[in-house]
Amino acid sequence: MCSAPGSVIGVTEPLCLMTVHAHPDDESSKGPGTVARYHAQGVHTVLVCCTGGEEGEILNPAMDTPENRARIIELRKEELARAAAIIGYDEVVQLGYRDSGMPGTEANANPASFAQAPLDEAVERLVAAIRRTRPQVIVAYGDEQSGYPHPDHLRDHEVSVIAFEAAGDPDAYPDAGQAWEPSKLYYTTFSRRRFQAIHEKFLELGMDSPFDEEWRKRWEKMPEDRFTTSIDVTGFADVRRQALLAHGTQVDPTSKFWFGLPPEVMETVQPQDDYELAKIMVDGKSVAPRLAEDEIEDDLFAPVGALSDR
Ligand SMILES: [Zn+2]
Repeated sequence: MCSAPGSVIGVTEPLCLMTVHAHPDDESSKGPGTVARYHAQGVHTVLVCCTGGEEGEILNPAMDTPENRARIIELRKEELARAAAIIGYDEVVQLGYRDSGMPGTEANANPASFAQAPLDEAVERLVAAIRRTRPQVIVAYGDEQSGYPHPDHLRDHEVSVIAFEAAGDPDAYPDAGQAWEPSKLYYTTFSRRRFQAIHEKFLELGMDSPFDEEWRKRWEKMPEDRFTTSIDVTGFADVRRQALLAHGTQVDPTSKFWFGLPPEVMETVQPQDDYELAKIMVDGKSVAPRLAEDEIEDDLFAPVGALSDR
């Protein structure tokens, strides 16, 4: 379990958790219960949102009006602020890029887009946020994104991996603040086992599962779950539903995929968020952790020394 702030990594530093997401609403679908739990334990929580989600279509028919379409950028900002407050983020940092749109769309080529931004510039912006907020743990996206290869999600991975290592190097990006070395970089994972459990719960209750044949085929093509760390979000699992609903233009409240099971049932189905510990910092270098095969961490702030000794 998570110890009191300051007692695990960085004896004198308050604990800080940073998550780096591509679009407004990604923070609500990926690991919101984890952030809510650490926030409740006194950990400072920082959300970095790389884009404004300008290319997001209105996916909730009840919100799809000409007025809302005209002010979609403003609306998404308001939705993000509401969702972040529900989850328990202490701070939201906008990296300031434009949504690059789905793969193969015209928006991919927009010079203001995250995908088109000079890599160095985007890394420097993230390094500046890391140095200012001093997180020990950063959660970003992994290299395995075959299930949803959005250009902004791929960029999130690329930029985060470089910034994780560069933030502690005083010679790198000298204009981006005083060097700060984060300890651990995690990747969020798409948990097949969780969606499988949700599917089985629909069947158990005699309800139609939204995970139809097409879904099952997608699952078969996806790689096995790859996680090193499983965070118990019992008591915080309903945060996902509440935060997703705050994204009124992006999430259809009648979606069976998100909301098909009654909330009190949904809260009890696999109340864990799974992560992959991708890198740790040792002597100023980012290295892959050595983890025992059968050992699953239950705390993102678990001591780093022990991990590298395993
Ligand atoms: Zn996204």
